[in-house]
Amino acid sequence: MSASVIDGAKIARSVRERVAREVAELPTPPGLATVLVGDDPASAIYVSSKRKQCVQAGIRDLHRHLPGDITQEELADVISELSADPAVSGILLQLPLPDHLDAGALISRIHPDKDVDGLTEVSAGRLATGRPGLRPCTPSGVIELLDAAEIPITGAEAVVVGRSPLVGKPLAQLLLQRDATVTACHSRTEELAAVCRRADILVAAAGVPRLIGADAVKPGATVIDVGIHRREGRLCGDVDFDTVREVAGTITPVPGGVGPMTIAMLMANTVTAARRQSTRAGSPSGPASSA
Ligand code: NAP
Repeated sequence: MSASVIDGAKIARSVRERVAREVAELPTPPGLATVLVGDDPASAIYVSSKRKQCVQAGIRDLHRHLPGDITQEELADVISELSADPAVSGILLQLPLPDHLDAGALISRIHPDKDVDGLTEVSAGRLATGRPGLRPCTPSGVIELLDAAEIPITGAEAVVVGRSPLVGKPLAQLLLQRDATVTACHSRTEELAAVCRRADILVAAAGVPRLIGADAVKPGATVIDVGIHRREGRLCGDVDFDTVREVAGTITPVPGGVGPMTIAMLMANTVTAARRQSTRAGSPSGPASSA
């Protein structure tokens, strides 16, 4: 029997609509500062689509486009300035940066309460210790998809293939927080298919086209495909969709699965950041204090 297919585009739309309602209820609209350095065409497209969707939800567009030859110090100053600016609720530094720039050092300049990509060490620490904070967008999008599809997480056996700081590791932590029993796989995992077959929820985030075949899927499992690749003019994921859908109970497609959730969760994070800052503005420590 063929798996039911999760409609990520529809779920992302409902998240965006929820964000727009939440924005309308705030005393002042949140502002998102996207920072684009140089003229990489793919990055320009990503940033433009983030800005467009944010504006549609009523989020103020505080975009900065900076020259590709900007120095580390100049860019660090821009990020520090945005971190201190009360009009800026969230900061997104579009990656990758030109080679001469140290992305890690620049990300660490983002105030953790404005870290809408969830990439600072403070955000990672808050996630690891289970404290409130801004979570990376793609992993939180996966959790939102599971919830929207009413897939039980508590007590489920979850296997995440990939342990990157951007996707696999934070996702494993989010699943653990939701009381799944989590296994994190990586390039050195032995008997990958056998480990994956244990999963009630299998997430593929390895960046290897069609790595997960039907032999790696327990009948009836939920399979979430984070991977995205262009092959022979078509998009595909880390999961061999056509064979796996015959075994899985529920599956995400590529495109139209996890992909649309990432920007939706960025928008949700921007609202969370704005709320967090307005709460702090009323507290004695003020808006710019870290947690
Ligand atoms: P990444 O930084 O390259 O990390 C890949 C992870 O997969 C690493 O932990 C690696 O293990 C593991 N891995 C690689 N080959 C493997 C194999 N044969 N078996 C088991 N594990 C393997 O990639 P990423 O940034 O996490 O992204 C993963 C994929 O998601 C990419 O296709 C990317 O384009 C996609 N992505 C999509 C979205 C979206 O919005 N849909 C967002 C972000 C990323 P080691 O740690 O041992 O090297």
